[in-house]
Amino acid sequence: MIITKQKEQKELLKNLEGENKIFIVGCGECSTTCRTGGEKEVQQMKELLEKNGKTVTGWVVPDAPCIAAKVKVALAKNKKAIREADSIVSFACGLGIQSIKENDREGKFVHTGCDTLFMGAIDKDGTFQERCSACGECVLEETGGICAITRCPKGLLDGPCGGTDKGKCEVDKDRDCAWTLIYKALKEHKKLHLLKDIHLPKDYSKMSKPRKLTLPPAS
Ligand code: SF4
Ligand code: SF4
Repeated sequence: MIITKQKEQKELLKNLEGENKIFIVGCGECSTTCRTGGEKEVQQMKELLEKNGKTVTGWVVPDAPCIAAKVKVALAKNKKAIREADSIVSFACGLGIQSIKENDREGKFVHTGCDTLFMGAIDKDGTFQERCSACGECVLEETGGICAITRCPKGLLDGPCGGTDKGKCEVDKDRDCAWTLIYKALKEHKKLHLLKDIHLPKDYSKMSKPRKLTLPPAS
């Protein structure tokens, strides 16, 4: 899931200065879970904009799965309301916003309603936790299913560092040391021998941006 946080209302309203008619796009998947761009938040935003003298020409929350796959149809169904608008404001992630821009035939400016934070999962306390940095060369097989690159602040491939203390991380004492968690996970699964393998430096060319992937023709 892509974790987002709504921008401050003051910043959003400033970005919309001089534009009176706005079309709003939410997201039926990640932004709905993050409570940044689901139907409820889009309605709240509509009220906020109207309270600030704007006219909302329409809104849409493309269904799950990912807005990036659904946005073309969602925009086509709302083309009249989009045409009437001075601009669009989206509460999807950065991927969703760029998909809107690429699929909007009216060529409207797309304002960014959210900051996109990270890829993560929700824990038992309801907190979103970063879990993957899309490094392109996954090492979870060797690290007991715990991402060393994302969960260790130093991204160490052969940890722990000398600062780990009673299972906590020296960078943040409230956080478990990722490499202690890795040790425990490997021990539990009788795979401690994996710790003896020294990892070569990562191939950072696999993280060279922008990345792309072309699927072979479906058989
Ligand atoms: S190693 Fe970590 S950052 Fe890389 S792909 Fe696997 S989970 Fe993601
Ligand atoms: S204490 Fe553990 S998690 Fe923190 S930087 Fe060192 S190895 Fe990484």
